[in-house]
Amino acid sequence: MADKKYAFVTGGSRGIGKAACLKLASMGYGILLNYHSNDEAANQAKQEIEAHGVECELLKFDVGNPAESEKFLTNWVESNEDKVIEVLVNNAGIRKDTLMMWMKEDEWHSVLDTSLNGFFYITRLLLKGMLTQKFGRIINVVSLSGLKGTPGQTNYSAAKAAIIGATKALAQEVGRRKVTVNAVAPGFIKTDMTEDINEKEYKSLIPAGRFGTSEEVAELIGFLASPHSSYITGEVININGGLYS
Ligand code: NAP
Repeated sequence: MADKKYAFVTGGSRGIGKAACLKLASMGYGILLNYHSNDEAANQAKQEIEAHGVECELLKFDVGNPAESEKFLTNWVESNEDKVIEVLVNNAGIRKDTLMMWMKEDEWHSVLDTSLNGFFYITRLLLKGMLTQKFGRIINVVSLSGLKGTPGQTNYSAAKAAIIGATKALAQEVGRRKVTVNAVAPGFIKTDMTEDINEKEYKSLIPAGRFGTSEEVAELIGFLASPHSSYITGEVININGGLYS
């Protein structure tokens, strides 16, 4: 695969996003790694990605901020006309759990801004290139919470459920141009986001008897990014050890 094909991964510096970057790098994609604030984690991820012999560029901005998203992506596209972004992984997300009766406006809006609005700001900017080149893979990282709803996570469940609806709608808009749009819905995955959740306490609920790993989710993302998945679009694929299916 030519070195000029790129994958853009939001929240690519840690957890599932980092594992997705490494998987896509192993498939030969140059990586555009977006993150928000943790420079040390981003630099570490960049080193590991470059060990696969591909380029990795760090793009530090808040995906929930439309002006920043537009500035960074437009600048990149304009100064890299010989390169194409084939794969977009909308992965950046945060949790701010609390019961709805206690939820503050910021806890609602920050979760929706990062996951849902971030999906919109980034995807609309990269879609034009994919439609013009008549190829693209958009993979949205949602959650079991967006399918079944999780108490204490009305904000997070709403954001993820909304992206599932958008995934299905967008897939129908762009299918003819060979752009596929799918979502992956993890259950409990061992990352910084779930470090406050006791695996021992919850694993008995999971048929597989354990939390999943970022690498397992990344394998699914890699498959959806690959030519092997060309007839799959508008789908939500569960990856949860049988917790819900
Ligand atoms: P994580 O370990 O907490 O990593 C989050 C990543 O997102 C980091 O790279 C972080 O960058 C970045 N990020 C956060 N806010 C951002 C923003 N406003 N703009 C740009 N980047 C931002 O999370 P994870 O567990 O890997 O989760 C990744 C995705 O999977 C999320 O969408 C999450 O909802 C979903 N998910 C996770 C699980 C799970 O069990 N872990 C289950 C279902 C779904 P900085 O470090 O710079 O802040």
